[in-house]
Amino acid sequence: MGFKFQGFDFIQFDSLLSEDERLIRDQTRGFIEQNLIPIIEQCNREGRFPRELVRPMGELGFYGATLDGYGCSGISNVEYGLLTQELERGDSGIRSFVSVQSALVMYPIYAFGSEKQKEFWLPKLATGEKLGCFGLTEPDFGSNPGGMRTRARRDRDGYLLNGEKMWITSGSVADVAVIWAKLEDEEAEIRGFLVETDRPGFSATDIHGKWSLRASVTSGLSLQDVRIPAESILPTSGGLKSPLMCLSQARYGISWGAIGAAMSCYDAALQYAQQRKQFRNQPIASHQLVQEKLAWMLTEITKGQLLALQVGRLKDRGKAQFQHISMAKRNNVWMALECARMARDILGATGITDDYPVMRHMMNLESVKTYEGTHDIHTLILGQSATGISAF
Ligand SMILES: Cc1cc2nc3c(=O)[nH]c(=O)nc-3n(C[C@H](O)[C@H](O)[C@H](O)COP(=O)(O)OP(=O)(O)OC[C@H]3O[C@@H](n4cnc5c(N)ncnc54)[C@H](O)[C@@H]3O)c2cc1C
Repeated sequence: MGFKFQGFDFIQFDSLLSEDERLIRDQTRGFIEQNLIPIIEQCNREGRFPRELVRPMGELGFYGATLDGYGCSGISNVEYGLLTQELERGDSGIRSFVSVQSALVMYPIYAFGSEKQKEFWLPKLATGEKLGCFGLTEPDFGSNPGGMRTRARRDRDGYLLNGEKMWITSGSVADVAVIWAKLEDEEAEIRGFLVETDRPGFSATDIHGKWSLRASVTSGLSLQDVRIPAESILPTSGGLKSPLMCLSQARYGISWGAIGAAMSCYDAALQYAQQRKQFRNQPIASHQLVQEKLAWMLTEITKGQLLALQVGRLKDRGKAQFQHISMAKRNNVWMALECARMARDILGATGITDDYPVMRHMMNLESVKTYEGTHDIHTLILGQSATGISAF
């Protein structure tokens, strides 16, 4: 069941890409076609993370791909964007896994870590020999992480960590957790800590009953008097700005990833509409209302591509600001969710099954709309950027 993806390029978008950029996109597309598409619906049914793909993705250099040295690929931001697009055309859960490993674990080690931390962790994380997670959100602090209760107390020659983290991607499969905690002193500054997950007092419990990102592991983390050495602090991390810098990296990847999910939905809806016949033995693609939906998707995906590409080009020139990334994340995830809903509608009853990828994408995108800054928080970031007044 299902259709083979036919590709998407309405306005010769590919002509805006270099040969290397197209190569990375096509290589990732090939990997996903061969390795993820055949198993993803079953993984989604079973709520299983396809761990068997971790090392092959590492061999292809998917993790920490924009970083230089330490076994990382050192590709451009646009190339990375095209990579995440193709991952998420497969499944948002796989893209989430790669985003967390890359932008939320390897990036903070690269940006805020000591040379020793970089040399120890980055090559192992790059191959997938070690996995990581990022613990910022807490049960009572989501959109407002600055209120976090997790604390790090200076203790003998190290730190003692206490707190609860919630909704943590890859939590129970991670070897190392990047934990954000406030130092227990007058300033209560937020700092990042590298916590090996086998330390006494650390536990991860998976969240079950998810109807979204079922092929991705999501966990709650508990830290009860977890003792870590002084050298486990990320030395140049400081303040909420540090985790927000990581989130900017991840949000940028999401803005491309959502395009992939939208392309998958559009492609399934188009091929289905050309085959499915209703009224006078005509394909439903011949009905004006169906064409209107396809035209909307085609247009919005194309606009989303241009937005992501421009933000990527700015990022490659060191000129992308967080509000640019907010616009791309907010718009493209919203656009993808609308595409998934329209595509589901075009598929009629069959659209609610996993014979086609559409409903899975739709459910996944509900999480993508919420995590890495909710749609509305990005609205407020844009509002602040436009007016100079913070409404949150
Ligand atoms: C599958 C999944 C994976 C995740 N992975 C990670 C991870 O790896 N690491 C991590 O740290 N976190 C992770 N998260 C958590 C995610 O970042 C949070 O869910 C997100 O920040 C929103 O927080 P919340 O769910 O507590 O919602 P809340 O902050 O409670 O928001 C609920 C609603 O209120 C709205 N709202 C809140 N404040 C305002 C305001 N000032 N003005 C207007 N509206 C407002 C929001 O927009 C939203 O609609 C993940 C979440 C999911 C679903």
